[in-house]
Amino acid sequence: MRKIAIYGKGGIGKSTTTQNTVAGLSMMGRKVMVVGCDPKADSTRLLLGGLAQKSVLDSLREEGEDVELEDIRKLGYGETWCVESGGPEPGVGCAGRGIITAINMLENLGAYEESEGLDYAFYDVLGDVVCGGFAMPIRDGKAEEIYIVCSGEMMAMYAANNICKGVMKFAQSGSVRLGGIICNSRNVDNEKEMIEELAKKLGTHMIYYVPRDNDVQRAEINRKTVIEWNPEVPQADIYRNLAKAIDENKRFTIPTPLEIEELEQLLLDFGLLDAA
Ligand code: ADP
Ligand code: MG
Repeated sequence: MRKIAIYGKGGIGKSTTTQNTVAGLSMMGRKVMVVGCDPKADSTRLLLGGLAQKSVLDSLREEGEDVELEDIRKLGYGETWCVESGGPEPGVGCAGRGIITAINMLENLGAYEESEGLDYAFYDVLGDVVCGGFAMPIRDGKAEEIYIVCSGEMMAMYAANNICKGVMKFAQSGSVRLGGIICNSRNVDNEKEMIEELAKKLGTHMIYYVPRDNDVQRAEINRKTVIEWNPEVPQADIYRNLAKAIDENKRFTIPTPLEIEELEQLLLDFGLLDAA
């Protein structure tokens, strides 16, 4: 089983990209479990058709210790298992705790057992915070492969670089590796070339370029992945290809984060090229 964590700046498109890619993987016959690691608990909405998934923390609160596997995972599109770790009441407690609780509970209840036949577990992790609970999936080999969703916007690149610092730290002492950067376009000038160069400098590769396309929103308001909503549109092909690229990926590296000056220079060289 491949254990993959998706990181990236908040709002960059982690949950959207993860679910659309997972839909692609499931169409290839892969058995996948998606674990939402965001207190917003919106990581599986498109796969579940908007069905409210009771989070692991909510189940714990309501059922105490009697929680069963079927209480915390639901089958979504393409026979994909969907789990939301959930979070504490807003403003109370550490949001990272939900992730730790959820992964431990899934392990204890046997969700990762051979007999479950999983090919992939995906962790959709909030924001760019690689500390405490949010680093949990990349600690102790819970997730071994990291993909960073990034665009050509400065803050997204800044977050990607920070995430690489976290991954590098855990990679030196463990088995976690960076699998690549997924460019989720914001239609920034020279975006593809710039992210390719950023990836190169980070010691990895841009595994796929995902264009910005309103069909993503059209599918989203129907509570579906693009592949389920309309498998014929070009964006469905994009996600099928991204799924294939991940399925076939062989490039796993320890990232080499940039100094802030290097990052800014990259933006000057590419992003602002046309304005100069
Ligand atoms: P995150 O999980 O990183 O916080 P989301 O996946 O929730 O971000 O994405 C934020 C919004 O961006 C979503 O409402 C989604 O519709 C939109 N979005 C993401 N990727 C694309 C894309 N390639 N084209 C168009 N819209 C996108
Ligand atoms: Mg999200």
